[in-house]
Amino acid sequence: MYYIKHKRERVGPCNICKQHAELTWDHVPPKGGIELTAMEIENILHLFTKKPGERKTTVFQNGVKFRTICAKCNNEFLGRKYDPVINEFAISVGKYLKSLLTLPNVLYHKTKPNALIRGILGHILAAKVPIYDSTFDVMAREIVLDETKKIPDNLHVFYWIYPYTQISILRDFAMPAKRGNFSKPGFFQVLKYFPIAYLVTEDLPEYEGLDELTRFRNTSIDEEVEIPIRLDRIEHQQWPEIVDRGNFLFVGESVQSSIVATPRKPTRKE
Ligand SMILES: [Zn+2]
Repeated sequence: MYYIKHKRERVGPCNICKQHAELTWDHVPPKGGIELTAMEIENILHLFTKKPGERKTTVFQNGVKFRTICAKCNNEFLGRKYDPVINEFAISVGKYLKSLLTLPNVLYHKTKPNALIRGILGHILAAKVPIYDSTFDVMAREIVLDETKKIPDNLHVFYWIYPYTQISILRDFAMPAKRGNFSKPGFFQVLKYFPIAYLVTEDLPEYEGLDELTRFRNTSIDEEVEIPIRLDRIEHQQWPEIVDRGNFLFVGESVQSSIVATPRKPTRKE
């Protein structure tokens, strides 16, 4: 019932530039930051609603990917411009987490937050099969395609440490702007993979005290800033989308391509 949609026809509109073109596979998260292994992929809605012990997974041999963007967007915009920044950030933070040294509660890592924001938005755009002009998609496309375009003040990208191997992508969902307070919902996108998780929202300048990448929205594309990484704040791997006493979730059509992916355990050989 909850099958996974991760590709469109070979030729069609690109999720980023909308040009009709041959579509290419985009790895989410990008290649080069994580090891590409066989992943068991499950639709996120199925994960929430299944009976205990029930499994319905699809195996991707080579990481999580979506056939939704053209070669130009894939190579020029994401691959050349933004992926090196995303990957350097992920690899460096991953090294801190894996190091045996005693780490401080907060450390600072030098990165290019402006490029990082644009790259994360690009991969979030790619991770959806239905194509339509939601306000988020329209805004994100402009920012990814034009690096001189200012990052709007109402866009907020939050981040936190994510020490799990599971990859989680959830597009276009609503949940309370503040956990436990059901009077005001917010609209969100989430991308989580080792070692950092990203939560993107419009119009909410704050979410549960998370650090915000968009605090640095006015830096230039190549400007480096030391951003804080809070090693003392570890959330559950299904946080914040988990439905519990303080939370609800509304999803739309794009939940068809919202997934969780877990590295497949190697089968034992004799
Ligand atoms: Zn394109």
